[in-house]
Amino acid sequence: MDRSGLKEKACARIDKEASALVALSRRIHGSPELRFEEHQASTWLVEYLRECGFDVEKPAFGLSTAFVATKGSGRPRVALLCEYDALPEIGHACGHNVIAAAGAGAASGLIEILDSVEGSVRILGTPAEEGGGGKVIMARHGAFEDVDVAMMVHPSGVDMLEIDALAITALEVEYRGVAAHAAAAPHHGVNALDAMVSAYNAISQLRQHIPSTQRVHGIITDGGQAPNIVPERAAGTFYVRARSRAELEVLEKRVHDCFRAGAIATGAKMSVAKDGEDYDELRTNAPLAALYEANLEAVGRQLSEAGKITGSTDMGNVSQLVPSIHPMLQIAPPDVPLHTTEFCRFAGSESGDRGVVDGAKLLAMTAIDYYSDAALRDAVRVAFETRS
Ligand SMILES: [Zn+2]
Ligand SMILES: [Zn+2]
Repeated sequence: MDRSGLKEKACARIDKEASALVALSRRIHGSPELRFEEHQASTWLVEYLRECGFDVEKPAFGLSTAFVATKGSGRPRVALLCEYDALPEIGHACGHNVIAAAGAGAASGLIEILDSVEGSVRILGTPAEEGGGGKVIMARHGAFEDVDVAMMVHPSGVDMLEIDALAITALEVEYRGVAAHAAAAPHHGVNALDAMVSAYNAISQLRQHIPSTQRVHGIITDGGQAPNIVPERAAGTFYVRARSRAELEVLEKRVHDCFRAGAIATGAKMSVAKDGEDYDELRTNAPLAALYEANLEAVGRQLSEAGKITGSTDMGNVSQLVPSIHPMLQIAPPDVPLHTTEFCRFAGSESGDRGVVDGAKLLAMTAIDYYSDAALRDAVRVAFETRS
């Protein structure tokens, strides 16, 4: 069977599965679970993939809510990634329910054609994208060894081939001072909140003098215990982002200096810890992204003209290990940003459902292109190795 025949067969299966996939997406959307706690979502996905005929292992690669489903054997091996964690307070405002169901749908499509091509597919259930770095932990446990390419789609307000995903580190700073009665004996106190505020202001000043491609932003999470007590403890969490891990290291040191400035000025003791794993910048594999782009027309989509979207993802770390794509799939109007309650609504609406089916087809068709063409596989590998 030729390539277009294989694509038709896979897409026909995805159409047949559409109602089950949409139900899966809506179910995950209706029961949002935070990072590392995605017990229901991962169980539902595993059930679906087992019914499709996949061999599934869960837990996998060091995480209780991760799974790996495989079909076929040998190379080339395509990895499809399913995210399914939600955000605190605002649920599936990043639309990971759509990612999960699209990945599962692509898997169901590929099962139809794997007998006709050389190679295999590995579906990875990857928890904790929202700050936990699930993929980083899974990579450490070997999830991407023996994988040739890794793919996923991410819902968005636009159709784009990539997101401008920056390297990121999350820093938690804590100051410890000395409590004292704020009116009776303030001179006996060491004010931890003053340390935090000094650091916050120093970071605000730093921000004027960093390149526009870098980001530092944070919140104060503890500002003291009562107005009439000199604050004994204060704390904050800051995200630091840059275009590469090398740039990030330099910026991170400057943020550290701001933290230290607060400690020195007040005499408070300071400690800094990382919150979760550092994320690498995303490297989109151009030949692989071109395959995805060529398939857009088949599902009635085209790339948006909009400018870039900036963020960060642990798919960045995967993209440093194997050729990868992380295209954005439109499920909401362009002016509705990710991580808002409005976006959450779209992720559980008919446009989110359409994203599930289209995303599944796009991933399946791109995988079929990859399986079917040795010259393309070479181009993907060369682009990865030469970092072009
Ligand atoms: Zn997100
Ligand atoms: Zn996301």
